[in-house]
Amino acid sequence: MPASVDASPSFEDSGDTSRFCVRWLLNPGQVPQENCCLTITAGVVEKIGACRAGDRIQPLAVIPPLVNAHTHFEFSSLQQPFSAAGTFPDWIGRVLAWRGQVTQEQSERIRAGVQESRTAGVRLAGDILTGSHAATDLSAWQGIAAVLFREVIALTPERFAGQLSDLHQHLRTVSASAASNEPLVAGISPHAPYTVHPQVLEKLVRLSCQYHAPMAMHLAETAEEQELLQRGTGPFAALLQRLGVWDSRVFPGGRDPQEILEQLQPAPRCLVIHGNYLSDGNISYLARQPHLSVVYCPRTHAWFQHPPHPFRRMRQAGVSVVLGTDGRSTNPDLSIFRELQLVLRQHPDLNIQDVLGMVTTGAAEALGLPELSQPIVVGRPWRATLLRLPACSSGSVGLNEFCQDAELTVSGVDSTLV
Ligand SMILES: [Zn+2]
Repeated sequence: MPASVDASPSFEDSGDTSRFCVRWLLNPGQVPQENCCLTITAGVVEKIGACRAGDRIQPLAVIPPLVNAHTHFEFSSLQQPFSAAGTFPDWIGRVLAWRGQVTQEQSERIRAGVQESRTAGVRLAGDILTGSHAATDLSAWQGIAAVLFREVIALTPERFAGQLSDLHQHLRTVSASAASNEPLVAGISPHAPYTVHPQVLEKLVRLSCQYHAPMAMHLAETAEEQELLQRGTGPFAALLQRLGVWDSRVFPGGRDPQEILEQLQPAPRCLVIHGNYLSDGNISYLARQPHLSVVYCPRTHAWFQHPPHPFRRMRQAGVSVVLGTDGRSTNPDLSIFRELQLVLRQHPDLNIQDVLGMVTTGAAEALGLPELSQPIVVGRPWRATLLRLPACSSGSVGLNEFCQDAELTVSGVDSTLV
């Protein structure tokens, strides 16, 4: 992605007040404001109004800070995603093979993901963290706020017992040792139904309540996962057998994502990652649980060619749905705005203001850090992502093109420009 930071737009600057004019100001749920002037005084939005004659309008779209609710920065060194050929367990086999031979330090790969995300205008990310706490270099998240969900994979309570003290360490120390001025929050990620024993999940939810830590779990992602839960058969059963961790008592058949949603329900906050195959019954249950949000990852979803995601039915029912990139293991880059553009291309009847919250304010709320992405209104601290619009023959791209196709570069984030 040809993204670059351009820190040189011209603003009128007088002391601690800056006034600048932009092509669009976009806030979730509000009609886009075109050719609009913002006055920022001492880091606070003092005035928003129409441009005056003679104002130089910057080819910029100003939006609340971008948020990527779900990613795996550990894969950020990959130049292209792993092939989705075959079954989903085949894809997992490719991930496991790569993990066995990758030589670059994990912290270096995370650093690359953080840098790429910042370049794409992301201010807050929900990152899945693997490896041990002792081996984690928290300075890798320098310059970005993040909820670090430590991943737990344990198909037996005994295996989990071996990870417990490490998890306590993570939960006790991550927030306290933030290496930058951006907050880091400790979270817990039971990986998925096919890698976590139900009793382990119960313990993790208890820990989440004890530490008031948010949770994130991959759920209802594939048809193969549904088959494993419902019938105890299929490619996942074969994979677990091959790995020597199969236990038919854990997957006797007759299980359903609903039981897992109900197990997650007591957690103070939880992201249900993907939810591609959640039923109408699951969706009406989620609609009654505002602290549970679904993270739809549009390009990852397309990579695996799943049937259309039910995010519109979810939103209609009142479920909180936000977007994530997932990692570079399923996605060519970490631009959350490109996820939004894909949604708008696939659903041309939606306006950007209908969906912008899924990558800004709503996503920050889902991660439990709503203060990090707020609508841009008078009286609020000035925090924004500025997207530079590419030029075209008519001078600047139209709103539809911006929303669906435009190759954007990020001009800056929050106060770095004013
Ligand atoms: Zn994921």
